[in-house]
Amino acid sequence: MIRAYKFLMRPTVGQQRALGDMLKDHCSLYNGALQERRDAYRHVSRTSIKYGQQSAQLKEIRAFDPQRQGRWSFSSQQATLRRLDKAFAAFFRRVRSGDTPGYPRFRGVNWFDTVDFPKDGDGCRWDSTPHDPTTRVRFQGVGHVKVNQHRPVVGKVRTVSVKREGKRWYVVLTAEQAEPEPLSPTGSVIGIDMGIANFLADSNGEFVPNPRHGRRAAAKLEAAQQSLSRCKRRSNRRRKAVRKVADLHRKVRRRRLDHAHKTALDLVRQHDFIAHEDLRIRNMVKAPAQKPDPDQPGGFLPNGAAAKAGLNKSIADAGWGVFLTILTSKAESAGREVIAVDPRNTSRTCPECGHVAAENRPDQETFHCVGCGHQAHADTVGATNVLRAGLVRRDARQG
Ligand SMILES: [Zn+2]
Repeated sequence: MIRAYKFLMRPTVGQQRALGDMLKDHCSLYNGALQERRDAYRHVSRTSIKYGQQSAQLKEIRAFDPQRQGRWSFSSQQATLRRLDKAFAAFFRRVRSGDTPGYPRFRGVNWFDTVDFPKDGDGCRWDSTPHDPTTRVRFQGVGHVKVNQHRPVVGKVRTVSVKREGKRWYVVLTAEQAEPEPLSPTGSVIGIDMGIANFLADSNGEFVPNPRHGRRAAAKLEAAQQSLSRCKRRSNRRRKAVRKVADLHRKVRRRRLDHAHKTALDLVRQHDFIAHEDLRIRNMVKAPAQKPDPDQPGGFLPNGAAAKAGLNKSIADAGWGVFLTILTSKAESAGREVIAVDPRNTSRTCPECGHVAAENRPDQETFHCVGCGHQAHADTVGATNVLRAGLVRRDARQG
């Protein structure tokens, strides 16, 4: 199974210039090869030039023009020639079927926006600085370019492309994932509620704790970041502090990933259907509670606890995002169903009698229905309601 990913790149000014030159040179290679085919086609002999012949000239072109064409990856140039070949193949196919298609056209420099690298590791390298918390991709003639990698890449990266859109630069990857092997049905369904105290609670009353040492590593990371901010610029101490922060980042990230993979695998093995809260809606509705200022009615206390909770929450959010991506991908491969539901009221609704009230939840951990007296852990109640909402959505979908 092939999957595509597209990430925004953050090239330096120098790298932007190099990327621009790369497109320009690939564009002129494309146009030059087109010119050659055109001339041959218009000649009385109606010669048609093939990709193989043009590709065979590349070595010479590069040797003749080392300052320009010689700078870039050989394979990426072959890919550009292959693109032209495709355009011609489509042209001749339409001619044969009786159409009168337009002859393949020259491209203006501003209309040539993509360079393909057919194989990771050949003229380019995805994740070229794996020991650094910042992801980079290296291109021959350009260097290591920073990437905003907003989601994990699953599987082995096959092809890499550079794409220009307006003033932005993107890297597009295709990755190959293991063929899906559907698991046999278990007849079990489950709802999950993601929390701070526990990583998640499920509708069967079970809890999955947070990654071991995750909190301690996060605290260490915070301390390291603070000591980094106190270091003088360009000092030896600062260099050391930067490395320490990077190491800790990597550690936290790896633990979180391992934990997410394991948790997702357990769920997917045991259940045919998994319902979870829609994080996007949840982030919109669950703003951190403010503390009213007793001395000043209508005012709020600027307390450190709220800021701290905000930080913990943002760390947790990042973890859940990664987890849900992994869960969805594993479920897809295994033929399981995952549904996201609107989380509103899931923590305030009684699963026994349906009574909805904020008073049903006297504190973070307790659920005690004021209508029927039902008592349970608040997160278990949340997970039960998520499961119900998920099943309703599934039934509605199946109509
Ligand atoms: Zn009740």
